[in-house]
Amino acid sequence: MSPRTDTRGSRRTILAHIRARSGIARVDIARDTGISPATVTTVTAELLAKGLVAEVLAEPDSGTKRGRPRVLLALNSDAFLLAGAKISNNHITVAVIDFGGELVADHVMPLPRARGTARDMADYVHAALTETLAPIGKDVADLASIGVGLSGFVDAESGEVHWSPTLSTRNVPFRDVLTDRLGVPVQIDNDANLAALAELWFGAGRGMSDFIVLTIEEGVGMGIVLDNRLFRGTRGIGAEFGHIKVQLDGALCRCGQRGCLEAYIADYALLREAGAAIGADQMDGTGAPQQIDSLIALAESGNHAAQSIIDRAGRMFSLGVANVINIFDPELIILSGERMRFFSYFEETFRQRLAQNIIDIDRDPARITVHTWEDLLWAKGAAALAMEGLTDRILQEPAG
Ligand SMILES: [Zn+2]
Repeated sequence: MSPRTDTRGSRRTILAHIRARSGIARVDIARDTGISPATVTTVTAELLAKGLVAEVLAEPDSGTKRGRPRVLLALNSDAFLLAGAKISNNHITVAVIDFGGELVADHVMPLPRARGTARDMADYVHAALTETLAPIGKDVADLASIGVGLSGFVDAESGEVHWSPTLSTRNVPFRDVLTDRLGVPVQIDNDANLAALAELWFGAGRGMSDFIVLTIEEGVGMGIVLDNRLFRGTRGIGAEFGHIKVQLDGALCRCGQRGCLEAYIADYALLREAGAAIGADQMDGTGAPQQIDSLIALAESGNHAAQSIIDRAGRMFSLGVANVINIFDPELIILSGERMRFFSYFEETFRQRLAQNIIDIDRDPARITVHTWEDLLWAKGAAALAMEGLTDRILQEPAG
């Protein structure tokens, strides 16, 4: 590893550590990260000079003789205002945060239509940001960086969207269209990655360097955090957990292939099974979420067909998660999304099957936690993406 790469890695690690601890002494950064005190001093001086970090005074440790206040480092909250926007089916959710990660404003704007050109969507994002910022007397131009999340095949590095249910055309340079329209640097990413970033910056992954987030929504997604960073794959579309194969020549997936995990556990798959085995007349509600609730209610009331559909989903999901654990051996897996009532129904089957399929040694395997959340947290993940982009840009600028 070259010294330059090493310094860049150290900056990221140190900054991530300061962010996670919100108030930490230099000596503790060196101890916790294993980076030499000399490098910690050099890097933190640079972070201070660039305005990313500020010194704060704290009460002296009770054990110290002189009783001098300790100097701690924290993110410089007032330095920048950032925003994240998550484009969903029928609305855009916006979170505005300060550089310390505190939520400053949030807002949900209904989308006039679910699908449009990149330019249409950029106009809607601009309108949603403006509506969010107006009550706090700010404007889009006051933002230092903006993160935008949408579902589909999104290349965060090139800024291109290869395919998304939100956009009417394929292979769109969506980041450039947004940057052009908003006049502020923009980062884009796929929504499962935003879930992972939100957990890393604000949630259960805070202070952890390696973990995996799995989301069950209309589809199934995965975000992988390795060494404090999202791992995105060579083509930017890695971690397609929904399309790992769990059955040879299995059920048809909407991606066109067979035996994908999604073809057993995504909403459309469960409802397809339910339609064939139970009959639409027994299912309440018109939207997929309501129908899934109805399927769970049927299972809870003892309907065998409903029980077997959900039980199979639980077994398939545990197979998929076991494969992920056997490949990555992560410290933590966070199961995340709005649809976690569904998970709780098959949790027992899931955990039993999982134990049978993960490699067994004399140390405990990955912890698995469940985190039910809403659109605002996706938007906060998009704001974290904005923050990541901003800090990368600032750290790449020559010092001083
Ligand atoms: Zn598939």
